[in-house]
Amino acid sequence: MDPESSPNAEPFSKLRRRIYFVFCFIGLIASTIGYIFALSSGEADFIRQLISFLVIGTFIVMTLLALWTRISLARLEQSLFVSVVSLSLITLVYALYIEYPIPLAQDLILALLLWFPGVYVMIFFVFKTQKAVLIGSILLFIVMALSLPHALRTLNRVTVFDGITPFLQIYLSHIFIILALYGFAVFRAHGVKQQKIAQSFKALASTDALTGLANRRHMTDLLTLELTRQERYKHDFSIIMLDLDKFKQVNDVYGHDAGDEVLKQTANILKESFRASDTAARWGGEEFLILLPETQNDNSLFVAENLRKQIETQLHYDKKRITISVGVASFRAADSLRSLVKRADDALYKAKSKGGNSVINETLDPDESSELQEPSLDTSESPAEPA
Ligand code: GH3
Ligand code: MG
Ligand code: MG
Repeated sequence: MDPESSPNAEPFSKLRRRIYFVFCFIGLIASTIGYIFALSSGEADFIRQLISFLVIGTFIVMTLLALWTRISLARLEQSLFVSVVSLSLITLVYALYIEYPIPLAQDLILALLLWFPGVYVMIFFVFKTQKAVLIGSILLFIVMALSLPHALRTLNRVTVFDGITPFLQIYLSHIFIILALYGFAVFRAHGVKQQKIAQSFKALASTDALTGLANRRHMTDLLTLELTRQERYKHDFSIIMLDLDKFKQVNDVYGHDAGDEVLKQTANILKESFRASDTAARWGGEEFLILLPETQNDNSLFVAENLRKQIETQLHYDKKRITISVGVASFRAADSLRSLVKRADDALYKAKSKGGNSVINETLDPDESSELQEPSLDTSESPAEPA
């Protein structure tokens, strides 16, 4: 598998690889044109030819490497950086000290001047901001160290790229480029930070702090969305509402922290026992609501009954078992958020009035007497016996 297609791949790695490919390819064209120009002028000596071959060869290799996805992006960036920097510096030294004063050196220096700022851009692309500033400054320092002796020994000449003036311009423009890139990098980092803060606020706003489940607001949004989807695609969905039995006694006997602990344990059981497509939320104090998309009433009753049994066997505090009462409701034509939740709530209320630790299905006709007993899944054997 292409390592950059995996979900863990660094973001934009494919894009970066493509940019490097284009960069190397343009470098290849530019260096080849430069070489042809030098040859046609008939002034290319042996060293110059050697350097040209080196540059062209390097760009061919780097272009191919950029296409070869088995070399890691980090390795590609390192090789590209090292080869471009060393070739630039070699060319600079050759143009200033070896070929000099042949006028042909001017086109080399001009080419370098045009392309070298690209190296600074690349540094900020590859390295983190602080490191990029450091490496950029070191590079600028090397360029100064290599070119100053030439500038000083040609102080009295007026030809282009002689004397100190053109080099001062070059140094200052490089400082400006590094500072501008630094500014952009800081600006971008600030944007990324803001984005992360916004994301964490969004997560906080939809999560219940104690249990880590969705909160009521988020569940309301999900239910609203589900109702809209139902209208469009006509699929079934159900909700399960549950409430811890005699929970107040846990607080009264063991204290509020113990109560919180029980709520967390309940949430953990809910997290483990539902499908990824279902969402459990803390609906109120010790009341939870689970949304089951694509689930018909009989299936959700089955799920609710399993949950009741699981809680009955798993949820304890100080060896006292803790149970839940459960109400189940499924979408019906013309349901609103309020009517659906109310049916689940009514069913839950009935489960409570039967003594708790039971699952009750919604009443089919809301006009029917509230005394109507749901026969199907009243599984309570004994009332809950918390503390
Ligand atoms: P029932 O069987 O009828 O449901 O009785 P109950 O005691 O569970 O219900 P009641 O509504 O009388 O009490 C609910 C209690 O839940 C009261 C409240 O102090 C407690 N509670 C609500 N939210 C929290 C919370 O975040 N932490 C703790 N520890 N307790 C909470
Ligand atoms: Mg309760
Ligand atoms: Mg309650």
